[in-house]
Amino acid sequence: MSPEFSQADHAAMGRAFALARAQAGRTGQNPAVGCVLVRADGQLLSEGATGDGGTAHAEALALGAVPAGAARGGMAYVTLEPCRIRSGGGTACSTLLLEAGISRLVCPIADEHPNGAGGFERLRMAGVMVEIGLMADQARALYADFFARLA
Ligand SMILES: [Zn+2]
Repeated sequence: MSPEFSQADHAAMGRAFALARAQAGRTGQNPAVGCVLVRADGQLLSEGATGDGGTAHAEALALGAVPAGAARGGMAYVTLEPCRIRSGGGTACSTLLLEAGISRLVCPIADEHPNGAGGFERLRMAGVMVEIGLMADQARALYADFFARLA
């Protein structure tokens, strides 16, 4: 059973995909990811996309753009599973989302990269509502090359 997604969910994820696509081809070996943060009351809070070269992650940029505590209780729309660990040694996006107090994460698909996979589980275990499957076909198309390189 996939969760029911609202029109607001589709709009926020559509925006996240637009951000991701704008960075496609500019993020080195890393996938171009988009992230949109929305407050619990539905107000757009912040957004981000993987930086040039792929070092800066979308979630970190979106969270870094708002004051501490601003995203508490809010929702994150991310085009790919937030990373469980970061190969570079930085703080993983799943940790950043937890620390920010996000209450709900909406994501199309899981990451097949070993450092990405497990982010959902980590957030779920901490009590975050994790809903997967929104616009999954678009994510599979966007990340086909990235996943193929992992194989
Ligand atoms: Zn990340």
